[in-house]
Amino acid sequence: MMIIMQPGATREQISTVIDRVHANRMEAHTNVGTRQTIIGVVGDRHNVPADQFESLPNVQSVEPVLKSYELASRQFHPENSVFSLGGFTIGGDEIPVIAGPCSVESRQQILETAQAVKEAGANALRGGVFKPRQSPYSFQGLGEEGLEYMAEARALTGLPLVVEVMAESQLPLMSKYVDMLQIGARNMQNYSLLRAVGETHIPVLLKRGLSATIDDLLNAAEYILFGGNNRVVLCERGIRTFETATRNTTDINAIPVLKSLSHLPVVLDPSHSTGHTSFVSAVAKAAVAAGADGIIVEVHPDPEHAFSDGQQSLKPEEFARLVKQVKAVAEAVDRTLVPEETPFFPNGVING
Ligand code: PEP
Ligand code: MN
Repeated sequence: MMIIMQPGATREQISTVIDRVHANRMEAHTNVGTRQTIIGVVGDRHNVPADQFESLPNVQSVEPVLKSYELASRQFHPENSVFSLGGFTIGGDEIPVIAGPCSVESRQQILETAQAVKEAGANALRGGVFKPRQSPYSFQGLGEEGLEYMAEARALTGLPLVVEVMAESQLPLMSKYVDMLQIGARNMQNYSLLRAVGETHIPVLLKRGLSATIDDLLNAAEYILFGGNNRVVLCERGIRTFETATRNTTDINAIPVLKSLSHLPVVLDPSHSTGHTSFVSAVAKAAVAAGADGIIVEVHPDPEHAFSDGQQSLKPEEFARLVKQVKAVAEAVDRTLVPEETPFFPNGVING
């Protein structure tokens, strides 16, 4: 249920509504929009006494929620969610590019990749240190050692870090190092992990499960939002279909569909969605043309010898070409890539 306040509602009137929500043993999540405030009432749906709220001062209307998710919906938050990560924003007109290897393999590999992707125009560095591998005998990631190398790469380049968290027990460690937690496709419905990241204040990149519907993905996001963490980015990374020519099938439809159903930013991962180096650039451009708010791309200095996902990883020079082309597509749809950092002038003069 959502309680829509009149545009001129005062803070006290909003508090009165929230107190009434709490008195009914429900939770209130408030969206203070530019025009009016919307209070999302969440909790056990069997206890919703809508008429108790309609009569309170400056309540415009009480609306039922038609979906099983509420805080993730556009109905609750009509404007796009825009939030900051490192030095840039996501969800607005500017499109960030996240890039880096599938896995952190060594200090040298991550430092070299970080510098290369930074030079090519990336805004954030990805790199897994706990890897969800199909076989238990495949490389599982460097763990904390990998996080230390990632932190060094951030210090060197200024790029914020995006790293996958596979289990709740890894959160205390991860929160010491990372700027954005990735929830992988295989964990999209790990509800205790979703709840746990919902209790942190670290932005989350939530990947769509291999066989998850758009509705499943938005309900997974709801778990995180319900915990109070509202910096959630949805990531389309391809789904399993009958097609075997590519590793997965990119669901381009998901981009405009998610944007219409939800206020959360939507990012596309063309590396996992295609599984082949030769298709990554085409699909990255398609994503931006279709309205994606960002892309996440696997890049490796020596893909042939990568410990994981080498077949879909771009070489730095291929990635640099991709960024140039994606930039042109962004401009064609009235967006821009995140501009290069404003140079730091010690005397505070920017244009002089
Ligand atoms: C990854 O980003 O390397 C990864 C394992 O992604 P996904 O969860 O989408 O398969
Ligand atoms: Mn990968």
